[in-house]
Amino acid sequence: MTLNRREFMKWVAASTGTAAVVGCAGTGGPSASRVVVIGGGYGGATAARYVKEWAPDIDVTVVERSNTFVSCPISNLVLGGNTQIGNLTMGYEGLRARGVRVVRGEAVAVDAAAKQVRLADGSTLAYDRVIVSPGIDFIYDSIPGLQSADAQGRVLHAWKAGPQTVALRKQLEAMRDGGVFVFHIPMAPYRCPPGPYERVCQVADYLKRSKPRSKIIVLDSNPDITSKKGLFLQSWNGVYKGMIDYRPNSELADVDVKGMAVKLTFDSVKGDVLNVVPPHRAGDIARTTGLITANQRWCGVDWRTMESVAVKGIHVLADATLSAPAMPKSGSMANQQAKVCAAAVIALLKGGPVVEKPVMMNTCYSFVDGRSAVHVASVHQYDAAQKMTLAVKGAGGLSDKANELEGTYAWGWARNMWGDALG
Ligand SMILES: Cc1cc2nc3c(=O)[nH]c(=O)nc-3n(C[C@H](O)[C@H](O)[C@H](O)COP(=O)(O)OP(=O)(O)OC[C@H]3O[C@@H](n4cnc5c(N)ncnc54)[C@H](O)[C@@H]3O)c2cc1C
Repeated sequence: MTLNRREFMKWVAASTGTAAVVGCAGTGGPSASRVVVIGGGYGGATAARYVKEWAPDIDVTVVERSNTFVSCPISNLVLGGNTQIGNLTMGYEGLRARGVRVVRGEAVAVDAAAKQVRLADGSTLAYDRVIVSPGIDFIYDSIPGLQSADAQGRVLHAWKAGPQTVALRKQLEAMRDGGVFVFHIPMAPYRCPPGPYERVCQVADYLKRSKPRSKIIVLDSNPDITSKKGLFLQSWNGVYKGMIDYRPNSELADVDVKGMAVKLTFDSVKGDVLNVVPPHRAGDIARTTGLITANQRWCGVDWRTMESVAVKGIHVLADATLSAPAMPKSGSMANQQAKVCAAAVIALLKGGPVVEKPVMMNTCYSFVDGRSAVHVASVHQYDAAQKMTLAVKGAGGLSDKANELEGTYAWGWARNMWGDALG
């Protein structure tokens, strides 16, 4: 089915619960409103694209430190040897072709009084509204053994797709048959609730194929598998039976990089390859901008507009936000929040009404091997009485079992997301 532009925008409005606000045609100019977006990942790139698409007269600039977008979704498949990082890596030319200015640089400060974003090279960008979608940074403070860059280069997280993903794959390739892969999962909330368990499946898939005497020890800070438990266990107790030793309530005390061991409160677990995902907080720029409102980690927002509850005129998206109840930190949610935000930013700039009860949907696929996947889906809507976005009871769903058709859907989901974000 092909949609013309008008039909497409109607569909977007319906599927995100937002009103598509169409600005007058034009390409900006001296008096045009200016929107600056910090971060060109799942949230930021999508918000930039839709502000420009729905209001072409607004000047939209994205500041992104990297010259490519590397997708975290699907990146676990690189570890399993089931795809290559190049298949998840894209440029920003599509966004540029849509009239969005993409500046490669590091945003180091937002001056909300002067309405300016400052970059590491000293340049500034003036804005009328700024959207901050920096993703996460890691909390290393409580892991003494991982303080140095050298230690962090040896015990990887691979929880931001890119060079670390490739490096962890190389460590797995270099591991002897009969070796032990030790994987530590932080306490929720972290980005992508099912992501760690998908990673276990991908590593198991590779080891089963190439190093069948090897083992995986999963040290989970959480009391149980946090997402799609029954579906992951079908694989762990099925095709990967005997390979995976899952240990819940495994709070991290430290990492002994020299001795290649993950230290827990009462135990120390040695491995040939260690993969430790530290706890997360909102990306650094959120902290320096004073956007963090919860547990020194996350940014509270008004869920109708994604505007920060701490600083007016600044909107925060996706992983950096204090998640609403039962709302995952996911690329899917980032995409939906970006559209709610884009519509709200346009409405606020043009003096129009914002959508009162926006709806957002989430679908997360996880591959259990090279071809088969499972999904979980949920729907979330703003509740005016509680001033909070809540999960819609009875909406959403879960796969019965892993299957190849959902594997093709998972790739389709990813390609649609990338096309949607990057044009
Ligand atoms: C292994 C793994 C698997 C996953 N699988 C799935 C999945 O299957 N489905 C799903 O929906 N989600 C999945 N996720 C979660 C998903 O990747 C995140 O939820 C999503 O990327 C969040 O979007 P974001 O915009 O908050 O952050 P990001 O997508 O990380 O984007 C942040 C961007 O901001 C840039 N940036 C940060 N600070 C600055 C600055 N100061 N100046 C300039 N640029 C800056 C970064 O370079 C980055 O490009 C997965 C995550 C992981 C780690």
